[in-house]
Amino acid sequence: MPDLQGVLDEIAAEMSVRTDRGEVAAYIPQLARIDPAKFGIAVALVDGRVLTAGDAEESFSIQSVSKVFTLTLALGKVGDALWRRVGREPSGNPFNSIVQLEHEAGVPRNPFINPGAIVVADMLLAGHQPREAIGEILRFVQFLADDDGIVIDHQVAASERATGYRNVALANYMKSFGNLDHAPELALGVYFHHCAIAMNCRQLALAGRFLADRGRGAGGHSVVSAERARRISALMLTCGHYDGSGDFAFRVGIPAKSGVGGGILGTVPGVGSVAVWSPGLNAHGNSRLGTLALEKLARAMNWSVFGA
Ligand code: GLU
Repeated sequence: MPDLQGVLDEIAAEMSVRTDRGEVAAYIPQLARIDPAKFGIAVALVDGRVLTAGDAEESFSIQSVSKVFTLTLALGKVGDALWRRVGREPSGNPFNSIVQLEHEAGVPRNPFINPGAIVVADMLLAGHQPREAIGEILRFVQFLADDDGIVIDHQVAASERATGYRNVALANYMKSFGNLDHAPELALGVYFHHCAIAMNCRQLALAGRFLADRGRGAGGHSVVSAERARRISALMLTCGHYDGSGDFAFRVGIPAKSGVGGGILGTVPGVGSVAVWSPGLNAHGNSRLGTLALEKLARAMNWSVFGA
């Protein structure tokens, strides 16, 4: 196997000098302030080793990457009944699009676009106050990463709540179809807070390790069944990059989920998980250099799930 640390160091060195980074997400005011020159990468191997390069110890807003964790938690609670309220198909539309909801009776195409994740947040509210549901999600992520130091950035959550008009529209629209059990503002409160979880690349790679290790998490505990880990990974491959999912699979070839904070969590089944962070985004809202870095890493290590 090629020298993984050497490959990571080389990628981090190249990304730190590139200027074609894309634009940071400005529609969430708190994210517009992030230094676009940051770049971090971490790999958590199933043998327990963690390798990092660049700004891998610096926290960033994981945003939609959190949707992998809320989906996992909700599947643990409601099982396959979840799929009655959320689909499993790529949307081919932007992350905050409302158009398909009208034709599909308020059922979002998949759990990784905003409306799908808002329905999942609504499921996690069952029997809880919003504060308890948010606490449960945070503790689950801490458990996955085996790291109690992970926190929610409340300024980011407040910034999104103050400006998230499209998400408010999506939630209200779904409520009108009867696909939210709780008041839209309660589901949105949970959603904005899980999007505002702050993690560094090392923590994020560790939190996602269960996907690569047949459902076994960073602490060695079984988190989900091997089948569930496989199915969540399939959704990441087909739906993890919004309307850029096809291109990501074409270029990189591993299941991965992006967030508008510039983070991407990927999984290489049987090998390990990888987290990358570069805040500049491409036209689909996915990290531009993060994608390029994963493309280079997957090629150098022969990690594409479609074969070497
Ligand atoms: N919190 C963001 C939003 O709702 C998440 C979007 C993303 O990361 O893609 O707009």
